[in-house]
Amino acid sequence: MRFSYLTPGLLPFVLLTAILSACSPAPAPMSEAPITPDTAGTGAAPEPAQSLIISEFADYSESLMRRMLERNPEWSLYSGLYDNAHQVTLPDETRRAEDLLFIDAELAALAQFDVTLLPADLGIDHNLLNNRLESMRWYLTEFKEWQWNPASYNAAGPIGLILNTPYAPEEDRLRTVMARLEQVPAFYQAARANIIDPTAEHTELAVTQNRGTLNLLGTSLQERVSASNLERAEKEQFEQIRQNAISTIEGFITELQTLSSDIDERQSGRDFRIGAALYESKFAYDIQSGFTALEMYERAVAEKNRLHDNMDSITTELWPKYFADQPMPQDRLDRIGQLIDHLSNQHIARDEFISEIERQIPLLATFVTEKDLLEQDPSRPLVVRATPEYMRGSGAGASVSAPGPFNPTADTYYNVTPLDDYNDEQAASYLREYNHWVLQILNIHEAIPGHYTQLVHGNKSTGLIKSLLRNGAMIEGWAVYSERMMLEAGWGNQEPEMWLMYGKWNLRVVTNAIIDYAVHVRGMTQEQAMDMMLREAFQEQTEAENKWRRVKLSQVQLTSYFTGYAEIYDFREQMKFQMGSAFDLKTFHNRFLSFGNAPVPAIIDLMADSTL
Ligand code: ZN
Repeated sequence: MRFSYLTPGLLPFVLLTAILSACSPAPAPMSEAPITPDTAGTGAAPEPAQSLIISEFADYSESLMRRMLERNPEWSLYSGLYDNAHQVTLPDETRRAEDLLFIDAELAALAQFDVTLLPADLGIDHNLLNNRLESMRWYLTEFKEWQWNPASYNAAGPIGLILNTPYAPEEDRLRTVMARLEQVPAFYQAARANIIDPTAEHTELAVTQNRGTLNLLGTSLQERVSASNLERAEKEQFEQIRQNAISTIEGFITELQTLSSDIDERQSGRDFRIGAALYESKFAYDIQSGFTALEMYERAVAEKNRLHDNMDSITTELWPKYFADQPMPQDRLDRIGQLIDHLSNQHIARDEFISEIERQIPLLATFVTEKDLLEQDPSRPLVVRATPEYMRGSGAGASVSAPGPFNPTADTYYNVTPLDDYNDEQAASYLREYNHWVLQILNIHEAIPGHYTQLVHGNKSTGLIKSLLRNGAMIEGWAVYSERMMLEAGWGNQEPEMWLMYGKWNLRVVTNAIIDYAVHVRGMTQEQAMDMMLREAFQEQTEAENKWRRVKLSQVQLTSYFTGYAEIYDFREQMKFQMGSAFDLKTFHNRFLSFGNAPVPAIIDLMADSTL
């Protein structure tokens, strides 16, 4: 499903689409009028007035959240609310006009509340809601991805989710799927009307992903319906609707292919690079960091040099152990690269990729408990599975799909893409990249105590708003932070080899940030980007190629890992320094995660306000 969080290296359209699906909401009438306080804006309000504002804001923000969900059945679904799962958001002109009216009305209502009168926790909710509404408007009126990204149109996500989540009896869910399939023709008709001047890259992606949708709707669904307890007439109706949906999607794919060859022939098509102005705005809305995009870029460049220094010390130390008679190269990137290359030969076999990941998860959980690093919840298991087909196609290797705040007891999946689609050479390259050491760091990042653990905490946190308006930089930043934290706590026994590989892995996060900015804003070429990834970040060819593809297809999201990580790590070091011997790592982690998925600067404010 789409609430997924992925590794720096391994892909995330999923997260991107989750954010966007929240920004292209669904038709539903505006229900209640927003509640506005009549005492707002008076500055130093007396106690009773302030508590009135607090309760009015709490009511209003919760109701706004509910109305936003009501307007967006897809977002509701991903959040674990299934009441309107049968409804499909039609992405047409009418809908966009309704969205803008909704946004303006709610922004005006929000502005009635004086943020300075709200406690910090609610102040953050105010800020998150305001940012989300402003961001929705920006996506609709400035960014306009709905015009140039054909891959934003795919019927599969919600259907796959309904089929995979046992939230209701099988027959009820199949009826919901049938209702959604019935709206597939209208959905793609709206899509076709929207697409103007698409990029070649997003057009190709739309073809690949919609082909995956055809698989989802294919024989296995047909067999599932036929094996179900639906009435015979319903089964026949389902089959007819399914066939109709399939031919609609086939038609859409054919049109996209024509469009694609047209773009190729004329060398036309919109540039996938979004440029400085759109990039800074998107960074501000999506990341909500203390940095500007440019500042973050400069910081990442400095971090790359620092990592190279560290990795060179380790290489110099380890050289005699692995290359006794061989002289060490003069160039430091050469010698670091040679050692990494040598160590990368230690990796698991191709067909053990998934089973090895399954084996490591309980070991990580035990380590976290033994070292007393943070709270875990054994009643919420993580299920390792092969990535569903409709989620593949954008280079993803691993991701975590988590239940939303409304059904926190649903399974959390660790999606691992099997290497079946790779030829021998590609598989070998991939396995060298996810070698003995890096695979462990991957599991820390995706599972324990990275995404999976954070999401378990996040869903427990008080507040619908922080759960639903999740901040990607906090989530990715936490996962990246947890890698270094685990190694510092002794995972890998402080082996220099582990730290060297960690350096390589972390360099990927750093170069992700550099390349994303440089490509979209400074016109960095494919050749330059590949050179940085292969030579300066020591990546394998397959990994670098996948990343280049992702840089072309997404914007800003690749910077979230580094930005969030840098902010969390700096904050922890600052707290350690301030609190001295009173600092307790487990308390710090539990408290940090207790604020849900708020932007890192907001959590820092909250924690700085209170005693740990
Ligand atoms: Zn991740």
